Amino acid sequence: MHPPIKGFIETSFLDWPGQVCAVIFLPYCNLRCPYCHNHQLVLKPDTLETLSLDAILDRLRPLRDWIDGICITGGEPTIHRGLPDLLKTIHEAGFKTKLDTNGTQPETLHYLIAEKLVDCVAMDVKAPLDDATYARCAGVFVPTSIIKKSIEVFMAASVPSVFRCTVTPTLLAESDVCLLAEQLKDLGAVRPAASAPSLTLQNFNPANPMEPALKNVKPFTEDALSRMQDQVNRILS
Ligand code: SF4
Repeated sequence: MHPPIKGFIETSFLDWPGQVCAVIFLPYCNLRCPYCHNHQLVLKPDTLETLSLDAILDRLRPLRDWIDGICITGGEPTIHRGLPDLLKTIHEAGFKTKLDTNGTQPETLHYLIAEKLVDCVAMDVKAPLDDATYARCAGVFVPTSIIKKSIEVFMAASVPSVFRCTVTPTLLAESDVCLLAEQLKDLGAVRPAASAPSLTLQNFNPANPMEPALKNVKPFTEDALSRMQDQVNRILS
């Protein structure tokens, strides 16, 4: 059985680097990142309409020449047992699949990649890999040994993969971001060109965070973010 679909965007140029994709949103998440802007989907998905997969695919089929694939995001898609069925159905409809994940379910990630159900994976790494900092940025305790396992799955993956990190000034300093890049490098997160996982930094958006106090926090300036990204690229090159 497919997981319930709680959101849909027909065309996105942002969610799959270099590709035009549709986006499907699945509900619930096992983390509580204070900066999460999808918290209605995480905390109150019952307030959102459930959309029909058949209707979505009927709408997308005529666009097959224009849309490269469908990005499955959330919430956290990998907590749904029906995710493999959903990905299979999308492939059968003729679309490639991209998965966004928080990396807390390494076995599921391994299974989806091994079964060739995903064509691209993006994993959000919340913080440097120590339990205290990770808990601060994820809003709940997450053993970083689990995150390391997912990173190792990524390293062995035959599909394009990218790491992302949302940088919120009160949660992560520039030094934390550099430390994360060093740790990814130590774990082998540097691979030959085309399939190389990179670490893409995303700026904090104060518009509607899960933790209301963060509304008053100013995001990093474009210059500061770009400087951090340069440093990360240098470390991972
Ligand atoms: S930002 Fe955090 S809480 Fe929100 S969906 Fe992603 S992993 Fe879950």
